[in-house]
Amino acid sequence: MTDRTPATSLDRFAADKLDTLAGKGLRRHLAVTGQSPKAAGAQITRNGRTLINFSGNDYLGLSTDPALIAAARDAAARYGAGAGASRLVTGNHPLYDDLERRLARLKGTEDAVVFGSGYMANIGAIPVLAGAEDLILIDALSHACIHAGTQLSKARTEIFPHNDMDALAQLLARHRGAHCHCLIVTDGVFSMDGDLAPLPAMADLAARHDAWLMTDDAHGLGVVGGGRGSRHAFDPPPDIPLQMGTLSKAVGAYGGYVCASRAVCELLRNRARSFVFTTGLPPGTVAAASTALAIIEEDSQRTSRPLALAGRFCAALGLPPPESPIVPLILGPAGAAMAASATLQEAGLLVTAIRPPSVPDGTARLRITFTATHADADVDALAAACADFTSFTPPHAR
Ligand SMILES: *Cc1c(COP(=O)(O)O)cnc(C)c1O
Repeated sequence: MTDRTPATSLDRFAADKLDTLAGKGLRRHLAVTGQSPKAAGAQITRNGRTLINFSGNDYLGLSTDPALIAAARDAAARYGAGAGASRLVTGNHPLYDDLERRLARLKGTEDAVVFGSGYMANIGAIPVLAGAEDLILIDALSHACIHAGTQLSKARTEIFPHNDMDALAQLLARHRGAHCHCLIVTDGVFSMDGDLAPLPAMADLAARHDAWLMTDDAHGLGVVGGGRGSRHAFDPPPDIPLQMGTLSKAVGAYGGYVCASRAVCELLRNRARSFVFTTGLPPGTVAAASTALAIIEEDSQRTSRPLALAGRFCAALGLPPPESPIVPLILGPAGAAMAASATLQEAGLLVTAIRPPSVPDGTARLRITFTATHADADVDALAAACADFTSFTPPHAR
């Protein structure tokens, strides 16, 4: 039984805020969503219905893979359900070593440091690398946790228009000289648009201005560059001294990482507040992530399939070839995106509408993601169901 107390100013504050969001069509709701390792393919259940999921980030279907589940179960049996303390105290269980070594090998760096999540990696690492005397330059469409990390850093932050290298060069020319260090941060694969950052050009600019380039490869690892991520989508791979990412998308588990030199990783282990002051990941999660990385290293058929399926979809609709397994159909108003999503759901296809503030105003969209476990026929069904929507190219890509 709940106590019935009169509405407090706190409750009225919350209710008013929610009303404002609802008035703008931006109120969000959680939907209970189940996925079962027993269901073949990328299926989920919602409100008693089974839907084909084109909205997840589990690009390789690894979250329900029997090998990951077995690894998680074994690790929990051996080391317990939780880590019990921060990694610097007693939470650094034996499985971390293997995971960090695998990450460094896959990314081609000396070392790697695993955080509690990708969000925690960015809000922890960025303030260690840049402070009040320094300059941070970030792409306008970079992920929310990059913006959050730069705010925590107290560095001067300038935002350049999406993938605009002339604008980046101008900012460097104008501001670099007045600052001690400079960090350039970008998504490697943009989460809501699916395009790649022009990493060779960024690495050149960084080298010329003694700036440190950092990529967020949350949507690159496992699905582009032969599974090694956005840096390896280019030949030769550009120099990127800081590559962060997540273990919760293509890797199918949970956690975040920064791959870098030994000195940088050791500094992060000492100074990143979201590393020092938080509990280690559960052993089962770390074991599942290690198992996934072994699969990503070995199974090129699996890592190439999501992009191939995105290509199949784009070809069917006459869209430009995709650069990643993320394909946006930009519909404009939030209402149009919501209506399109509802239409697809009627047809058994789950494609979530993405609205502001996750994307800029006027660019509400269907964000479609392809997974190695989709059947070709699933993709063809989606293309047929989307044929009537009128979408437009994002302004920055014109
Ligand atoms: C999802 C995402 C993150 C956050 O990773 P989590 O492990 O889910 O916290 C960071 N950056 C980008 C670009 C993302 O898409």
